[in-house]
This record gives sequence, C-alpha cells and structure tokens, in this order.
Amino acid sequence: MRFDLPTLPAEASALRGEVRAFLQDWAPRWTPEIRARSWMGFDRAFSEALGARGWIGMCWPRAYGGHERSFLERNVVLEELLAAGAPVGAHWIGDRQSGPLILRLASEEVKRRILPGIAAGTLAFCIGLSEPEAGSDLAALRSNAERRGQGWVLNGRKIWTTFAHKSDHMIALVRTAPAPEGGPRQAGLSQFLVDLTTPGITIRPIRDIAGADSFNEVTFDGVELPADALIGAEGKGWAQATSELAFERSGPDRVLSSFPALVDAVEALRGTGGAEQTVGRMVARLHALRGMSWSVAGQLAAGGLPNVEAALVKDAGNSFEQALPERLRELFHAEDLPEGLRRLLDMLAAMAPTFSLRGGTREILRGIIARDLGLR
Ligand SMILES: Cc1cc2nc3c(=O)[nH]c(=O)nc-3n(C[C@H](O)[C@H](O)[C@H](O)COP(=O)(O)OP(=O)(O)OC[C@H]3O[C@@H](n4cnc5c(N)ncnc54)[C@H](O)[C@@H]3O)c2cc1C
Repeated sequence: MRFDLPTLPAEASALRGEVRAFLQDWAPRWTPEIRARSWMGFDRAFSEALGARGWIGMCWPRAYGGHERSFLERNVVLEELLAAGAPVGAHWIGDRQSGPLILRLASEEVKRRILPGIAAGTLAFCIGLSEPEAGSDLAALRSNAERRGQGWVLNGRKIWTTFAHKSDHMIALVRTAPAPEGGPRQAGLSQFLVDLTTPGITIRPIRDIAGADSFNEVTFDGVELPADALIGAEGKGWAQATSELAFERSGPDRVLSSFPALVDAVEALRGTGGAEQTVGRMVARLHALRGMSWSVAGQLAAGGLPNVEAALVKDAGNSFEQALPERLRELFHAEDLPEGLRRLLDMLAAMAPTFSLRGGTREILRGIIARDLGLR
C-alpha cells in the first residue's frame, strides 16, 4: 500500500479562495440540517450555480462541457464544498462517477448529449447497483436486459437508489447473459444508461432514519432502451463498475461528512478551556486521513487504480466521521450546547450509521484490505 502525498498545482490555493468566497454568499441559506446532510442534500439551483462557475466536470474536455483542469484542483473544490456542508447531491454522482464512466466508455453521440448537462449542473444521476437480494453480494443481482431488435428490454428491481426520484438518469448494472456454468458469477453483467422518464419505470421513495426521502426502490417492467444505452462492452459490466470504486471510496466525502460540526464546535469552545485533548486528537486524526485521501487522489490523477488504499481511506474515514459528532457533544453541558450545533449534531447522529454502509460496508472493505495483506 502506498500513501505518498501529491504536490498540489500552483493554481490550487487561489482556487480554494475563490470557492470559499462563492460559498460565503450561499452559506446563510443553509440550515444546520442542510449542512449536516451535505452530499445527501439536493439543490438543483445550487448545482447550476456551481456549474456556471465551471466547478462540475472540471477535468473533462471542453468539447463535452468540461474545463480541462486537473484532478487535484477538482479535489480542492470538493473539500471546500464538503467543509461548508453544501447541498451537492444534485450533481455529486454525475460528477464523481457517472460522467467519468460515460466519458471513458459511451458512444460519441451519448457523450455530446449527456456530459454538458452534468457539467452545467442540470442533469442529475443515480447509481443502480444494489437489489433486494444483492447488496454486498452484488454479483447475485437479477435485474436483466434482453436484446430486442436494435435495442434492449430491461426488467427487475433496484433498491436503496439514492435520489432516483429526483434524478434524470441512472447507470444500472444488470445481467445480459446467464453466469457460465461453474464460471464466475461476475460474467454476463453489463452497464446501461437509463433515462428515468422511460415508460415502465416505477420509483418509490423510502424514508430514511433521519426522516428524509433520500433513497428509493426502482422497478423496471419491460423498459425499452435504445442500442446506445449499453455503456462499454456487453458482459464487461463488472470490471467497468468496480473500476469506479476507487473514485467512489477515497474522496473527501468519506472523511468530511461530519466536518461542519467540528467547525461550529471549535467556534463555540474558543477560549473556554478543557476541550483541547479531544479536539486535538480529532484534528490530528483528520489531518492524517486527509493526507491519505489526497494521496489516493494523486494516484488516481496519475492513472493508477488504488482500490485497496481507497478501501482503507473509506473504512478509517467512516470510523472518524461516525465518532466525531458524539465526541463533540460530550464537550458541552446540555444547556451550553448552542441551538444550531445541537441541530447539526442531532441530524448527524441519525445519519452516522449509514456512513459505513453506503458505498460498501465496513466488513466488505476490511475483506478487501485483508486479501491484499494475504490474510485470506
Ligand atoms: C445512505 C445509503 C445510500 C445508498 N445509496 C445507494 C445507491 O445510490 N445505489 C445503490 O446501488 N446502493 C446504495 N446503497 C446500498 C448500499 O450499497 C448497500 O446497503 C450495501 O452495499 C450493503 O448491502 P445490503 O444493504 O444488502 O446489506 P448486506 O449485504 O445484506 O449486508 C448486511 C451485513 O452483513 C455484512 N456482510 C455481508 N456480506 C459479508 C461478507 N461476505 N463478509 C462479512 N460481512 C458481510 C455486511 O457488512 C453488513 O453488515 C445505499 C445505502 C445507504 C445506507
């Protein structure tokens, strides 16, 4: 495992200042609950404003609405958005993984049709992986697409699909051929671009423990897809989907979910004395995790695929994000806890259990790390 630190481009610190100034104008509109939800919050107007500044699809070619900036500059923008608790969900998945997948593997026509919309913050994406009987064991999925004429017909059911009810498209992983007898179950899976307005799609929101409609059950009943809905190669969906995982698991979104509470707590505790041990320990852990996340970003920018390092960042980052709200609450007597911070901590307490489920559970990540160490 490698965790070398990348050198940030000279433009990065000016960019950080620009993003902070932009966010200052928006911040007064965000309640503690919105800041706590951060990348699980959805605000198209905010995403469109960000797109207009050129901060979505930052690394993509200009021909597709991108801005040809570096992966590390993009990481600076992500950090600032999360640190502020900005509601970035309307563009997060398109920018983080669906857009890059389309850029790499879709037809020219699809790239020109879809990517500029993601970069402008007007097209929202969701990820259709999990199914009722296929979560951690994703290769057990049963949704399927069959060829019909030039196109495909999709049937099946996805679950826990974040923002399906607010998104325009899904990237779905489904079976296009049975798994070979005695062969790997991962064979015969393919990825599709699904326009969620297509007839035959039913989306039912599922209320989460924090009281929000953030994820859904999505049913496909004879959904007709055009030929170019197939993304990449037929039957190679597993390799394609898993190659997105390092991008999905290593970013600052796996470390900074509770960060706005740390900022507010430090502000409230300034000059009071007594909190320095706990806050110091938390900031030291955060500093190390941030370095690890930056290291993976550097490897991704250089074309590497550091899946094990990404699993480590997510596991360690999620443990930090989950512990932080309760450690901070312990620093206050109930009557001294400022109202805004209390609401932030309450929302984070409801959300924290999901941090180590979404994007791959703790046990699955530790299995990946253990395999790399030769333990299994
Ligand atoms: C907030 C949130 C948002 C999500 N958004 C999406 C989304 O947008 N799209 C999407 O496709 N999915 C999404 N998911 C689903 C998520 O990916 C799954 O919940 C996750 O992969 C676990 O699958 P499962 O829920 O079926 O649990 P299971 O796989 O049934 O796991 C249950 C428990 O058993 C453990 N376990 C399972 N297998 C093993 C094993 N081999 N070894 C050791 N322990 C094991 C797990 O770690 C877990 O603790 C989301 C989940 C959450 C919480």
